[in-house]
Amino acid sequence: MCEKGGERVTGPDVAELVARARAGEPLAVGRLLSLVEAGGARGRQVASALADDGGRAHVVGLTGPPGVGKSTTTSALVAALRARGSRVGVLAVDPSSPFSGGALLGDRVRMAEHAEDPGVFIRSMATRGQLGGLAGATPQALRVLDAAGCDVVLIETVGVGQSEVDVVALADTTVVLLAPGMGDGVQAAKAGVLEVADVFVVNKADRDGATQAVRELRHMIGLGERGEWRVPVLRTVASRGEGVAELVAALDAHRQWSDGSGERERRRVARAEAEIEAVVVTRLRARIRDAHGAAGLPDLAKRVVAGELDPYAAADELQPGLAEPG
Ligand code: GDP
Repeated sequence: MCEKGGERVTGPDVAELVARARAGEPLAVGRLLSLVEAGGARGRQVASALADDGGRAHVVGLTGPPGVGKSTTTSALVAALRARGSRVGVLAVDPSSPFSGGALLGDRVRMAEHAEDPGVFIRSMATRGQLGGLAGATPQALRVLDAAGCDVVLIETVGVGQSEVDVVALADTTVVLLAPGMGDGVQAAKAGVLEVADVFVVNKADRDGATQAVRELRHMIGLGERGEWRVPVLRTVASRGEGVAELVAALDAHRQWSDGSGERERRRVARAEAEIEAVVVTRLRARIRDAHGAAGLPDLAKRVVAGELDPYAAADELQPGLAEPG
């Protein structure tokens, strides 16, 4: 599946690729992922062919600061899920990188052990500068993996920053990883992850301070108790596979709860809203960029600088009829 995101795909048409992907053929899955990343007319064809797919796989987002053990944990989860016979997809999303495709992940040592397993689909996605950004391409990639029969899709964030929260907004279940000695609870509160975490993991529990980190997190969660789901705080030593079975159990429990409570459905609707919005915003941007001459952005900008127009009036000229709300 080592293909570049923007690769021009010739050969089999979309319907054939979809049929082959449904049969679990890795090459076809890789090509479809390339097509949804590239967007455009064929990306749209894929979207149309896969409209029915989605909602089967349990989408699990893993986030946390760099070096905390996300990649190690993802790999350990893949091993545990494969051991029970689940088919697994892994999307490593790097919102800060322009590089896509399989090559990046191929370099990642921990994933290498799963690279030859036909029951595992691994893909890195870079979303910087991509049309529609994260909200645009990732849900489509999820549909491809769903069609390929994945029971679980792990979305691992590689980059850092606000976009991590966007990544986790795509998930049915969000796992926030922390490690002892990284500022722990305070850091979690600052990053705003207390609200998005469905499961907390204190990884590197072989290090000093793990017990204190767990205690601190439990205390903070207690203060901000929300809904009926009690956010568990687990300890793992991902590099040795310790605590991974408990993490799998917590993921299963959250899936069960969110199916029963309607939370999963609510998140899926929110995901679709973000997707539609991304399509519309992408179209608007393209239209703005394509406008030239007196009504084009560069000319209007010059007139704003010259004091002939204020930015609102310039926006009216650029997009007549699209007034600001309120
Ligand atoms: P990521 O940047 O969050 O994806 O972190 P990685 O999975 O790449 O892990 C960063 C480093 O921490 C690697 O050298 C891992 O081997 C190591 N590591 C991961 N989990 C553990 C753990 O539980 N204990 C210890 N001591 N090291 C770990």
